[in-house]
Parts: sequence; C-alpha cells; structure tokens
Amino acid sequence: MRGLTARFLDRKAISPAHGLTLDDGDRLALAAHACLPLLGIGESGLRGWSEVIVHPGAFRVEHGRHGAPHEMDELEVVEDGFEDREGESWQHGPMVLSWADLDAEIAEPEPGYQLVVHEMAHKLDALDGVMDGTPPLPRDWQRDWARDFGAAFEALNAELDALHEAGDDEAEPAIDPYAAEAPEEFFAVCSEYHFTDPERLRAAFPAVAAHLERFYGPPPALDRDDDPTPA
Ligand SMILES: [Zn+2]
Repeated sequence: MRGLTARFLDRKAISPAHGLTLDDGDRLALAAHACLPLLGIGESGLRGWSEVIVHPGAFRVEHGRHGAPHEMDELEVVEDGFEDREGESWQHGPMVLSWADLDAEIAEPEPGYQLVVHEMAHKLDALDGVMDGTPPLPRDWQRDWARDFGAAFEALNAELDALHEAGDDEAEPAIDPYAAEAPEEFFAVCSEYHFTDPERLRAAFPAVAAHLERFYGPPPALDRDDDPTPA
C-alpha cells in the first residue's frame, strides 16, 4: 500500500480547483484511498490517465459542451442540462472528485460507499478501451464475468421494478439502486461494497462477489476469522 501510494503521488497530478487547497496529508489520504483497489492488481492499475481534479464540493456538469459524460454519480438534476456530481471519471481524461464528499467519507466511513474506489473501478474498467463494466480479463474469465454480472444487473433492475410497482418506497433493495443505472455503474458500485461491505455483496450477488474477490483480492475489510474463503 505504501509503495502504490507513493507511485500514485509520483504519477498523478492532484489539482485542487476553485480555491480549494490540499495539504500533504490530504493528498496522501486521497492517494491511499485510490490505491486500495490496486492492492491485488499492482501499479499496472494506474495506467491510462494522469490527473485528479478536486473540487471543493459537488460540482456541476453541463451536458453537450464536452460530450456525454460516462459518469453520473449521485446525480441530482438541478435544472435542464445540469447535474451535480460527487465524482466523475472520463474514459481517458481526469478523475474528478468532490473533496467535501471524500473528506466526509474518510472521517465517517459508511458501508457500501467509497467514492474514490468507485472512480478507480471506472478507470480499471476503461483499461481495455471500453467502459462497459468489464475490465481487461483473460478470455474465459471475461465470458463468465459478463454472464454473472449481466444476470446480477438484470436481477437488481427486476427487484427495483417490482418494488416500484408495489409502491414500496421503504423497502431497501439488495444494494444501492444507483448500481442499476448501467453495467459500468453496477461494477463500480459492487466494487465499493467489496471494499466496505463485502458480506452484503456476497449475500446479494455471490457470483459477482466471487469475481471481485478474484479480481481485487480478498476484501481487506473482512475479519479473517469470519472469512469462509479457503486460504
Ligand atoms: Zn460511476
């Protein structure tokens, strides 16, 4: 983790925007959280992009000026053509983060949510040139991954549709419904669960959890004594 974090700080420009200032401790915290998903992958997971732009808070994206963004995290429609974001990753461009949201997550981690892990998952996804919910994998594994993630994505969407039809606004779906937005969001959100609430992911989508354990390595958040995975 120490080596990966040092490499991240060496290779990525961290650019605070709109008057934000980040001290060395802030930069270290950002880099360390970004490297969490790379513990099992290594520094090859840092390829393909070079800059993190950090906004003071949720930022506003205007559609149409820069083309369609791939990322619509925690979107909230403010007015026609604008959305507020906490994070965003363009396929080859910078990672964009809200410092207010990242700082709050570091201070008070919440199971199922890790903004930088989410954005790093998008960067890993894009390494094969397409942000579609499947990172670069050996052919056989990629086939199984696409099958299992596709089935889970459809199951979550079916669950949300059923809850909606039943008018049950109180019911909690298997995982954060944002995962149902698109296959790439499903992968990114499940990655957040892998690192912050792996038991819930296993209970909801065991095949997906198994792929992520193989891809990222065992979830560091799991108590080893509770881990049923054979060593
Ligand atoms: Zn996303």
